[in-house]
Amino acid sequence: MSKNNDELFKNVISHTKEYGFVFPSSEIYDGLSAVYDYGQLGAELKNNIKTYWWKSMVQLNENIVGLDSAIFMHPKIWKASGHVDGFADPMIDNKDSKKRYRADNLIEDKIARYAKDGKTDKANKLQSDMDAALGADNLPALKALIEEHEIVCPVSGTRNWTDVRQFNLMFSTQMGAMAEDSDQVYLRPETAQGIFVNFLNVQKSGRMRIPFGIAQIGKAFRNEVIARQFIMRMREFEQMEMQFFVKPGTEMEWYQHWKEARLKWHLAVGTTPDKYRFHDHVKLAHYANAAVDIEFEFPFGFKEVEGIHSRTDFDLSQHEKFSGKKLQYFDTVENKNYVPYVIETSIGLDRMFLLTLCNAYEEQDLSTDDKQDSRTVLRLHPCLAPVKAAILPLTKKDGLPEKGREIMDALKLDFNLQYDEKDSIGKRYRRQDAIGTPFCITIDHQTLEDNTVTIRHRDSMEQERVSSDKLESIIGNLVSW
Ligand code: ATP
Repeated sequence: MSKNNDELFKNVISHTKEYGFVFPSSEIYDGLSAVYDYGQLGAELKNNIKTYWWKSMVQLNENIVGLDSAIFMHPKIWKASGHVDGFADPMIDNKDSKKRYRADNLIEDKIARYAKDGKTDKANKLQSDMDAALGADNLPALKALIEEHEIVCPVSGTRNWTDVRQFNLMFSTQMGAMAEDSDQVYLRPETAQGIFVNFLNVQKSGRMRIPFGIAQIGKAFRNEVIARQFIMRMREFEQMEMQFFVKPGTEMEWYQHWKEARLKWHLAVGTTPDKYRFHDHVKLAHYANAAVDIEFEFPFGFKEVEGIHSRTDFDLSQHEKFSGKKLQYFDTVENKNYVPYVIETSIGLDRMFLLTLCNAYEEQDLSTDDKQDSRTVLRLHPCLAPVKAAILPLTKKDGLPEKGREIMDALKLDFNLQYDEKDSIGKRYRRQDAIGTPFCITIDHQTLEDNTVTIRHRDSMEQERVSSDKLESIIGNLVSW
């Protein structure tokens, strides 16, 4: 990360706290690592992202329906899905600092260091050696790479390492009030399995015909050992996942379709294509026959925000095997039963939130020859902005606040608004710029005479005078989905 980007990212993080988007969880108790709370504006922004996803999945596609499955699920589900045995990261401890690291993260940092020092060959070789070791689940080989490349603990500076061990990422807890009755259950590490186990329920009760999809937004939990980059990697986070069930043999067409559709979704809220790239998985997970990540260029580099996976019939077949229940679809056109294939789109809501903020955040220099000036502005797409408009009476007297309240009351059912009469109008504009409010509506003395107000646009800072009767349709058009 260059100095500038490093600084920029720090500023984004402190901005989110200062204006009530994100707080460290349990802050008065010194926080809880890799867990965060969303503040008053963060909750709004998060809801708007969810709505944008839900509308574009469920409302715009007649063959996609929603689901809200429970976080707790039968423990056998995680055996069937492969999570109990395989959902693990390779960990290593430094004996001096007693700090634990992901072995692949330590190696990745070394690769980055080689690349930065211009040692491209070394970087490439280490990358391919690490991929080979990870691909073969060869833990001693990972340890050997750490030793061979003289990787030191960032805290102690020593090379006194333990062996590499697998560390399962699932949180578990006991279900049942009595210890004797208790049974171990897991907090789900992904929302997808809730969709698979409800596949037949939804298909039959909704009379769904293949191809069709089931979409769900919900919490997921992973005991990530290394917390990195703010809300990028959390222990409690939210996913927005859609599983699309297709006829076997047609999965590659649908994989292409969803790859393109998902990128379009990202670009439609104001991000430029050069900030995105596809990253094809070379090493595929055991359940996939094709997989790609949609990566975004964060200030700390290109990182995954969303995965699109062709999951074959792996999950449904596993659940057939472990539950003993048939999970097949009767195709009336083909006149036969089969286990459908699945294309999955899976995006982290919190990563999308961070992406949206990083993309929108700008420290803009407004200096002229005569005076220095600047502002921090969040150029959020109006449909995602937490506050759609601010109602600002120019002064606190002459009936302007009353008129402002009257306008606010007429609009507040339709839009999330803020009323603000404190400080100069310039300061109030800046406060709204900083939280990404697309429109400021100013009530002045002329308003009392002819019922007109000024609308000040966040991005251009231009103002126009309009009749207050038209506000609902003007704002409505500009913030609509
Ligand atoms: P990564 O490689 O970054 O750990 P992953 O490949 O394990 O991610 P998936 O299991 O494919 O991720 O999950 C789908 C999406 O869920 C990811 O693209 C990401 O946006 C989000 N996600 C996964 N883990 C986390 C986490 N710990 N915190 C926040 N979001 C996450």
